[in-house]
Order: sequence, then C-alpha cells, then structure tokens
Amino acid sequence: MTWWYFRKLFRNADSPEALLSRDLEDTAMSATFSTEVGSVGCPLCSSMEQACCLAEAERALKKCLRCGVYILEPRPLDAKLRSYFSDDYIENFLGLSRFGRNRDNVLSRVARAIQKTRKSGRILDIGCAGAYFLNAFFSKSQWRMEGVELSRFAAEQASESGIKVHVGDIQSANYTAHQFDVVTILDAIYYFSDPRRDLMLIREILEPDGVLAIETPLAQARIWRNQGWVARMFRTSRTILHHDDLLLYDLNSISYLLNESGFEVTKIVPCPGNRQQRLLLDALYSSFFYIAYVLWMLSFKRLMIAPRFLTLASPKAIPIANRH
Ligand SMILES: [Zn+2]
Repeated sequence: MTWWYFRKLFRNADSPEALLSRDLEDTAMSATFSTEVGSVGCPLCSSMEQACCLAEAERALKKCLRCGVYILEPRPLDAKLRSYFSDDYIENFLGLSRFGRNRDNVLSRVARAIQKTRKSGRILDIGCAGAYFLNAFFSKSQWRMEGVELSRFAAEQASESGIKVHVGDIQSANYTAHQFDVVTILDAIYYFSDPRRDLMLIREILEPDGVLAIETPLAQARIWRNQGWVARMFRTSRTILHHDDLLLYDLNSISYLLNESGFEVTKIVPCPGNRQQRLLLDALYSSFFYIAYVLWMLSFKRLMIAPRFLTLASPKAIPIANRH
C-alpha cells in the first residue's frame, strides 16, 4: 500500500494536475476540476486563468496556471484577517504550544541552514508567535533578535523572554533600510495576502548580502493528504478548505514570488512534517520524509515531494544604472 502511494507521488511529482484529476474521479467534485477564469486575479501574477483543484459549496482551492501558486477562495478581507490573527489565533498557552516543540525537527533544520551562512548578526522572525524559534536555536550573545507578531498574547510572551517584538504586521513596523542580516518567515507565508508587497519591503530592510528564509508546506503534499484513500484513512478529506491559509506554494511558485520581489533563490532544503499527535500518522510522516529526502538527492535536487520545504534567498544586486 505504501509503495503504491510513493509510486503515485513519484509518477506525478511534476504533474499535480494529472494526479488531482484522477483522484477527483471518485468524488462528487470531479466536475469542478477544470480550467476557468478565476473570480479574482492571482495575487502573485494577476493572471485570471486558474484550475480548480478541490471545492465545496463555499470554498475552493484553485491553481494559477501562470505562476503555479494555489489560491484558497474566497479570500477574507485584509482587515478581517488582521483582526482574526490579533484576537483569536493565539489566545492562550495551549494555542501557543502549536508553535513550539512539535516543530523542533523542522526548526532545527532551518536554524542549521541559516547558521551555515551566518554565525551572528541581526535576525527578524516574522510571525514569531512566542519566539520559540529564536530562543531555542539562536544564542543571545551572538544574535540580536527581534520579532513581528499579530497576536498580542503571543507577542507579550515573546517580550517576556527578552525578544523585542513589534505587535502588528511588517508594513506597520517601520524598520529602517538594511536593519537585518537575516529575516525568517516560518510556517506563515501562506497567510500573506499580498506577498510581493511584503517581500519587497523585506528586501529593503535586509542587508544587501542578507538572507531571507521561508519555510512552508509543499502545496502538492497537502493536497495529496486531502484526497483519495489517504484522506479517507486519516480523515483529512478536504480539511484544507477549512484552514485559514490563503496561498499555498511549491518550488516553482515560491521561486516566481521571490524573483518578482527582487530576490534570488540560493538554496532549497526538504523538511519533515510537524510532529503529529496520532502515532501512526507521525510514523508515516517520518518515513515519508526520509524517502522524499533520498529522492531529492537522487534527482539532483529537482524532485520535491517532502511535506515541507525551506527556501533561502538573497536580495538581487541592483544594476548600477538603477541605484539612486
Ligand atoms: Zn499566478
């Protein structure tokens, strides 16, 4: 059974549409998988050409056929989203624990990849929650650490641990040019409603030789989990449609986004899934990650099927003619 699943992933790794269309045949939603004109333009490339991947009466996951980003529609208004993250998203210690130890195996890889390029400096974690990542993996003697967090409760916890936190979003933070050596966006880029605008700002506050680290689920891996026998077995059928994510990425779409925002991708690292509460699911995730890692290496870093991935990028050099 497991082999069948891996063969399915492997065969379709470069063609999620083929996989999606086959799986949808046994669902009532098969009629919705078609190329169509989206109700709104793609937030990354403005294209209206989208394919519907998963749908229910009130929500749909579509793929932009130009840049490849996956879009959950309808998208909430920015103001509504901000108020949700400020007041409800993390309101107690139980909520905060989701961003801690159960992500150690992912966060340790991210920290290692960053510290291979920088041993010290100024680091900003956007969506830092209670600043678990900074406190657990970075030394205060070598790093000056700051965070941005919408949740007031989480920001207070981060401040109590000695991290300077801006309560709000990156646009309201008023950081100065070249203020940071490293900026991280961990498990959060899918909440950015206008990621190009935000990444262009991040480019400004980074040093010209700075590092941007984005860690996020692989879109296809999440979609596979929401379909067919895998979804039935783990009761995860279309749960993705009930999440608050806005945009899901794969290697192509994250590269497109970074390139359009003035960054150059320097490294991509496969990451395991977050720790799962159900033991069987956790064991399956771990085994799956190691197979995904081997495939990544054997394919000369082309075939990505890992549950999550990390992208490191640096600001592109501005041509001398364009400098002010
Ligand atoms: Zn697009």
